[in-house]
Amino acid sequence: MFTTIFVFYIFFTYKIDKIQQVSLFKSPYLLLAVLVTVLIVYFMVMIMLITKYIFEPISEMKKAAEQIKTGNLNYPIQFTEGNEIGEFCKEFDKMRIRLKDTILEQHELEKRRKRLIASITHDLRTPLTSIKGYVEALQDGIVKDKETYDKYLATINEKSDLLNHLIDDLSVYTKQELGEFTLNIERIHSGRLLNNYFNHKQYDFKYSDIELVLKKPFISTYINVDPYRMTQILDNLLSNAKKYARTQIIVSTKVIQYHLRISVQDDGEGIPEDFIQNLFDPFFMVNKKKDQKEKGGSGLGLAIVKQLTEAHDGEILVESVLDHGTTFTIEIPIDR
Ligand code: ADP
Repeated sequence: MFTTIFVFYIFFTYKIDKIQQVSLFKSPYLLLAVLVTVLIVYFMVMIMLITKYIFEPISEMKKAAEQIKTGNLNYPIQFTEGNEIGEFCKEFDKMRIRLKDTILEQHELEKRRKRLIASITHDLRTPLTSIKGYVEALQDGIVKDKETYDKYLATINEKSDLLNHLIDDLSVYTKQELGEFTLNIERIHSGRLLNNYFNHKQYDFKYSDIELVLKKPFISTYINVDPYRMTQILDNLLSNAKKYARTQIIVSTKVIQYHLRISVQDDGEGIPEDFIQNLFDPFFMVNKKKDQKEKGGSGLGLAIVKQLTEAHDGEILVESVLDHGTTFTIEIPIDR
């Protein structure tokens, strides 16, 4: 509006100037009026700009800060990019989003921790209750025949083993979850590591109905791994495969995109597709009753494998076809 007034003013003054043959700049009053108008317009524009680019964003940030103070992290800041204040608002908004993500992550962790404690309590209590029941039965003298007596003792033994296995896995898992474990990384020849491990393991299959097929030669390259942890990873995958295979387990290696792939394939019952995404969750079992009772599982094996593989900057993949079998593959970066 002021600019328009100013333009009209100059136009008419100029016209009058022409008519009166008086130069604009020869009249000090006119010159002063023009200068004052220019200054007024300049200040008005400055005020408008300052309001738009400084006061409004600051007031927006103040509102956002108040919202954050009350715990509402969903208030997005409106800002105009292209100047320092805009950049500041952008960073402030990024900080809000990061804070929101961190809080959501913490909530998720807290939920997981609670679920974990509930599972631990349940899984420890179940075999303990069972052991207690059998021991009490033996103490009460209600078992008269030797056969039942031996059966009770065998069950107590089996449940104690399960408890032991569970506590061992739990100790490994929680230590890893809390970051309380160290990797003793060594530069290792993959062929040698795998040959040593699987040649030794082949003895365990000597009297088994399951055949361990090793697709040799294993890839010979160098990987940076903790040999003890690698053994733990392979142990868990191989023992799972052995539990579920019908006739054979095939171990093979490959190199894909600077990663060594070690696959353990079984010809077991397979895993239903719906369960695949939960497979690496702690305490997850496809059929808890059956897996725990018949296979003596804790449901922590694959969660441990995942933690350990990721600690080596690797990845674990699974492919399964119902009634045909399952393949677990770990990918470890090759030392180039
Ligand atoms: P656990 O330590 O008890 O063996 P895991 O975490 O290793 O538990 O495995 C979780 C569940 O995944 C098992 O209870 C089983 O239901 C399923 N699973 C794991 N490996 C296989 C496999 N090779 N074939 C079929 N099911 C499997």
